[in-house]
Amino acid sequence: MRITRFEDARGTGIGALTDGGLRRLPWPRLDDLFAEPDPAAAVRAVDVRGLEPVGEHRLLAPTAQRCQLIATGGNYDDHVAEGGRTVTEPVFFPALWSSILGPGGEIVKPAEDTFLDYEVEFAVVIGKRVSKLTPETAMDAVFGYTVTNDVSAREVMAGNKLQIMLAKCLDTFWPVGPHLVTADEVPDPGRLKVTSSLNGQLRQSGSTSQLIFDVPTLLSKLTASITLHPGDIVTTGTPGGVGYFRTPPESMRPGDVITVEVEGVGALTNRVIAGW
Ligand code: ZN
Repeated sequence: MRITRFEDARGTGIGALTDGGLRRLPWPRLDDLFAEPDPAAAVRAVDVRGLEPVGEHRLLAPTAQRCQLIATGGNYDDHVAEGGRTVTEPVFFPALWSSILGPGGEIVKPAEDTFLDYEVEFAVVIGKRVSKLTPETAMDAVFGYTVTNDVSAREVMAGNKLQIMLAKCLDTFWPVGPHLVTADEVPDPGRLKVTSSLNGQLRQSGSTSQLIFDVPTLLSKLTASITLHPGDIVTTGTPGGVGYFRTPPESMRPGDVITVEVEGVGALTNRVIAGW
């Protein structure tokens, strides 16, 4: 199932994308779905043909209200190399829920001299409360997948590489969506094309087959000492081709349109606006 969160004249809701358009799911919020004893089974039990169609609406980020968003650092060889780094173990950092932006939302470039960059990232949505997963058990915890854009103010980390939050978690810096695809619809998450395009021109192109640490490895490493909860999102890093390392470097500007896409999961488009 492809699950969206939306706003219509009645307020916000969650829906299933069907051949007959968007239909309203029985839970008012994703938080309510993730509060089910087994969210994946609860969704599987829904007969979408019996659901009420949703009329005119606007899509919102398909996330629980205040989900934990955990990002993976360098996890593709070409991106690690373009940054002049080497990687020997997965690197994670927590992002802020307040920076999450929905499909079609506007990314605010905070200042004229901000070096605003894009990073397409395939992301995993957790469906169970889990800790101490092993690579063998990790995929049982996965509810589904979505697409994220790890928008970055490069000059902040160039000045101080520990300043991750102020480089990557500003308001609007985490577009997520356009929908959440349940795991049964993505039979092989280890073989998906991952791309980004700026104003319609291809900028990044990779495949999840190139992940240095695959999803089971990331989840087992992370949950060795951190409990994940239903609705939490774990991103998997970005391939090479970001604007900062291009020749010449290319920062996103107001009016630019950035699309990040993962094959079989979705394409997420946002426009950049000036914040000054
Ligand atoms: Zn990233």
